[in-house]
Amino acid sequence: MPELPEMETYKRLLNEKIQGKLITNVEINREKSINVAPDLFTQEVKNTSVIAVERRAKHLIFKLNSGKNLVLHLMLGGWMYFGNDEDQPERTKQIILTFPNGKLYFIGLRLGYLHLFDEQQLKEEFAKLGPEPLDQHFTLSTFLEHIKSRRGMLKTTLVNQSFIAGIGNCYSDEICFDAKLLPTRKMSELNEFENTNLFNGVISALNRGINQGGYMDDPFFKGDQLTGCYQTLVYDREGQPCFKCNSKILLEMISSKKTFYCPNCQQ
Ligand SMILES: [Zn+2]
Repeated sequence: MPELPEMETYKRLLNEKIQGKLITNVEINREKSINVAPDLFTQEVKNTSVIAVERRAKHLIFKLNSGKNLVLHLMLGGWMYFGNDEDQPERTKQIILTFPNGKLYFIGLRLGYLHLFDEQQLKEEFAKLGPEPLDQHFTLSTFLEHIKSRRGMLKTTLVNQSFIAGIGNCYSDEICFDAKLLPTRKMSELNEFENTNLFNGVISALNRGINQGGYMDDPFFKGDQLTGCYQTLVYDREGQPCFKCNSKILLEMISSKKTFYCPNCQQ
């Protein structure tokens, strides 16, 4: 499932393509992917412009000039492509938004959705989310304060969206590797040095993911050289040598989540 770095990559590329652009047509092939009647959705979205695309946690928010918002969550298997009838992927598209310079295809939106919300609904949707880890206000001191009452394991705490927003299965493992901490460690048992390493791990792993374009399999547009270039250090690398020490990366199930780590680098 795409996490903060994947959605941030989409956000940046989407703003390059469609910021300020008019939505000239709306095509809905799967009613379950939206939250209002298709007629109403089309009426509200067609002939509005996208002021900007923003991100909150693993969601993208298409800010429309009507004051409404389209909130996207790709969940498992969802992805996007920007192109035209000639270069579009041969896949089922649940929703297609047409712009003067191309079409935005929403693909694999089975569990995922594109919901139409006003500002109030948007607030309610995001009410339970924890802080944004790359926000300038998310400093080491706010982090240390934030984790004080946490007792769970690193793995399960990091993927908890009400703890910190946007981290999932992949980057929680990458963060633990950066922090040199085993994902099975208890939050309450970390000392201040380890807590500081954990904070630095959150920042470094997410930024590395963003800088390398995340781990999505498919390009966002024809000729896209950014999307999906992220090379994970431990995630999905069971049995392969650690890039730092050559030990074999191990896989363990923690709360039914696949968890990868280096038994030598992480303690
Ligand atoms: Zn190692």
